[in-house]
Amino acid sequence: MSARILDGREVAEAVRAEVAERVAALAKQGKVPGLATVLVGDDPASHVYVRSKRRLAEKVGINSLHFELDTDATQDEVESLVLRLNADPAVDGILVQLPLPGDLDDKRVTSLIDPNKDADGLHPYNLGLLALERAVLVPCTPQGVMRILSHYGINPTGMRAVIVGRSFLVGRPLSMLLAAKGTDATVTTAHSRTPDIAAVAREADILVAAVGVPGLIGRDAVKPGATVIDVGINRTEQGLVGDVAFDEVREVAGAITPVPGGVGPMTVAMLMRNTVAAAERSMG
Ligand code: NAP
Repeated sequence: MSARILDGREVAEAVRAEVAERVAALAKQGKVPGLATVLVGDDPASHVYVRSKRRLAEKVGINSLHFELDTDATQDEVESLVLRLNADPAVDGILVQLPLPGDLDDKRVTSLIDPNKDADGLHPYNLGLLALERAVLVPCTPQGVMRILSHYGINPTGMRAVIVGRSFLVGRPLSMLLAAKGTDATVTTAHSRTPDIAAVAREADILVAAVGVPGLIGRDAVKPGATVIDVGINRTEQGLVGDVAFDEVREVAGAITPVPGGVGPMTVAMLMRNTVAAAERSMG
């Protein structure tokens, strides 16, 4: 049996339509939401990501303001730009594309963003609200994973979820979302120090791979019928691949996200959703 494909492009399209409606409602109040993207350096992948974010912003009616700094930008220069955007009333959401190059301090820059304009949802204040189950601006990739599940009617309540990866960008916030009251999965977070990842992963009804190791999750790591969400994006000679060995895992899983076309488009869509939520909040 071959797994049902969870099509992130289809779900992202539904989110895009919802965001466009909310943008139109704001326009009636004379408000155009603004998203400022900040790109430092010349990493090709970062350029691709920011381009797709700006394109989608324009498509849904969000005003896209773009700022680029050279690879040799100083910490002070990046921080001054963030402070300027914090003070700019035309900017509702700020996205600093991570990772920053060289010795620039990602965490310090993220912490300087006004939490009300934190389109990525990664400011410590917003992560704190997430832990308290009161977040408005939720990190985009974990929020996108939750939306894929709800779109396809996969209810995590009572399920065993295993997340491989514990980053502050993906694994940790996602573990909070899945374990939250009302969602009620029983969550295990695995990482590089977890012995026998396959044995842990095999217990999952919902298995999420957010690691950055191509093909780490093979069919031996998947319970028959499980939902498998592949967050990984790895550039290889075979092109973009995830952390899941898609061809063999689709034969045992009940449902699976592809790479590309799975979680990736959701991350961008949720960034727009956060920007609109921030703009709505700025209007009281
Ligand atoms: P990260 O910060 O490098 O974290 C990777 C996590 O994987 C860490 O917790 C690490 O464990 C764990 N890990 C590493 N090797 C492992 C192994 N062999 N077995 C088990 N766990 C292992 O990465 P990230 O930012 O979370 O990103 C993860 C992947 O998702 C990357 O491929 C990234 O490109 C992709 N990504 C995709 C999207 C999207 O929109 N689809 C968004 C963000 C990220 P330790 O904590 O012990 O080091």
